[in-house]
Amino acid sequence: MSGVGENLEVWRGLIRDVPDFPRPGIVFKDITPLLGDPAGLAACVDELVAPFEEHGVELVAAPEARGFVIGGTAADRLGAGFVPLRKPGKLPRSALGADYELEYGAERLEMHTDAVADGKRVLIVDDVLATGGTAAASAQLVTLGGGKLVGFSFIVELAFLHGRRQLGDARVESALLVD
Ligand code: AMP
Repeated sequence: MSGVGENLEVWRGLIRDVPDFPRPGIVFKDITPLLGDPAGLAACVDELVAPFEEHGVELVAAPEARGFVIGGTAADRLGAGFVPLRKPGKLPRSALGADYELEYGAERLEMHTDAVADGKRVLIVDDVLATGGTAAASAQLVTLGGGKLVGFSFIVELAFLHGRRQLGDARVESALLVD
């Protein structure tokens, strides 16, 4: 019988640690082998969405670029729509912006002003929760845009960086904790 624990093992081994990328001292969590494995990806996304299946999620919002792949797949699984959170200057219509610090640099995310309007119930998804800046900026955009934040779901949480402290009272779920 295939249980949750077995599925966890299937995809856990498909995330590779790449030391000193993109700069010395950072251990990069490379999910591209996971993306290339249909069974592993399906098992991973199953776990990602499971805590939120009964929460009436209407939209999944995710930052580019790896968040698009994971978030789009999660949205499909939840029967929800998808909202891209983009780097500056990429969105064609009126957009809201939020600035933040990344584990390895400064960044800004933008979202179409009308993307989550009218109190839409939004789940934020990304591959890695590190310092929490990206996720906090994502939440800021959802709230600014008039959406209702349901929570956050990540594949990997780098717990030693305490990113979830940036995320307030919202529910935060991670499929894989790294201490
Ligand atoms: P942070 O804003 O510090 O929580 O960083 C999270 C964002 O940066 C996510 O979109 C990740 O894709 C990326 N990221 C940060 N640190 C790593 C890491 N060690 N490995 C892979 N991606 C990372």
